[in-house]
Amino acid sequence: MKIYGSKELVEDVISRDMCIGCGACNFLCPYFRPYRGKVAMLFPCDLDKGRCWAYCPKAEVDLEELSKIFYGKAYEGDPLGSYEEIRISRAGPRMMAKGDFQAGGTVSSIVSLALKKGYISSAVLTDRKGILPVPRIVTRPEEVLECSTSKYTAAPTLSAFNQAVKDGYRNIGVVGTPCQVLAVAQMRTNPMEDEGFEDPTGLVLGLFCTWALDYRAFEEFITSRVDVSSIRKVDIPPPPAEIMEVYTDGGAKMEIPLDEVRKLVPETCTYCTDMTSEFADISVGVLEGRPDMNTLIIRTQRGKDIVDEAIKEGYLVVEEMPKKNLEHLRWAAGNKKKRALVKARDAGIVNTSDGKRSLLRLAPKTLEAIIA
Ligand SMILES: Cc1cc2nc3c(=O)[nH]c(=O)nc-3n(C[C@H](O)[C@H](O)[C@H](O)COP(=O)(O)OP(=O)(O)OC[C@H]3O[C@@H](n4cnc5c(N)ncnc54)[C@H](O)[C@@H]3O)c2cc1C
Repeated sequence: MKIYGSKELVEDVISRDMCIGCGACNFLCPYFRPYRGKVAMLFPCDLDKGRCWAYCPKAEVDLEELSKIFYGKAYEGDPLGSYEEIRISRAGPRMMAKGDFQAGGTVSSIVSLALKKGYISSAVLTDRKGILPVPRIVTRPEEVLECSTSKYTAAPTLSAFNQAVKDGYRNIGVVGTPCQVLAVAQMRTNPMEDEGFEDPTGLVLGLFCTWALDYRAFEEFITSRVDVSSIRKVDIPPPPAEIMEVYTDGGAKMEIPLDEVRKLVPETCTYCTDMTSEFADISVGVLEGRPDMNTLIIRTQRGKDIVDEAIKEGYLVVEEMPKKNLEHLRWAAGNKKKRALVKARDAGIVNTSDGKRSLLRLAPKTLEAIIA
């Protein structure tokens, strides 16, 4: 596939407000930096080919090629992607009393175990300052707990991933939303064909995500309603709740109708086809009706090995996935995929031809089957 450079990245992604600010293009060169939820280009660059373009999850993503590389098969458009097992899970006895988790604590438990047992050397996580999401490279299980809970604004997490690679870390664990996981998948394919390339990841743990909020819009919205320094946790319980819950010091809880919050979702999220981080080793989301549990999708052998060890060592408890939950998850993820692909097709940015650049590529018959 043809790789372009920062000029095309600015034209296709940044200028068109398609950038989600995932951080994949940051700290690769002196030019792109994260700044309060946006990507800033400090100086122009005249290279016609760059990692910034090659890693971007909003530019020429070839789902067909990624599926072949990671799963050895064509991209079939399954709403939940390719997987080995789906379970429900929560932090085990070794983790239970330790942290304030978003839901069951599956993510923090798996990352803690992976660090402790040396499956990964470090983990790239997302901490926060006030409501600003702050990427962080951690190396000790105690630090994992400092980064727990969801920050519902889009985060430049991958800027820290790029920094970790530059600092010489290998076997890196990374926790990200589907767009971030897609960028990591592209990094792992060595698109620049570097000699002696080694996959820098030891574990890719993906979160489920329907959308993330624009940081600047959310900051303006929330500071007029609550003292940001008092926020302890933000939660969006699964349907039918239709609220965002903001927990503040002293245990107070404010409820904001989700309709008001949805106005702060950037347009680019509406083009995202992936609800469950389809190119992760393990994907984790909330479980409807059981706030103490997560949905756990195991996609790869290394994901399975780490989950098995986490269960054995008392870091994780798993149960069977109830059939009704699975059906609903599949329906919701399928809807997201279809909505996004219809929109991308109507905008003329999927499977383009005649040298025109595309947002996404997939087999035409798969596209047709998804949007039928
Ligand atoms: C923007 C966003 C939208 C989400 N939407 C959905 C959804 O629609 N449906 C659903 O089922 N689940 C969704 N989730 C996932 C859910 O909120 C939980 O993260 C997941 O269930 C794991 O729970 P846990 O208790 O294991 O997490 P914890 O053990 O508390 O760990 C949470 C982890 O998330 C990471 N993290 C936090 N914020 C971000 C961020 N902005 N970007 C990248 N990483 C981050 C942290 O590094 C931490 O490691 C969303 C998460 C985010 C961040």
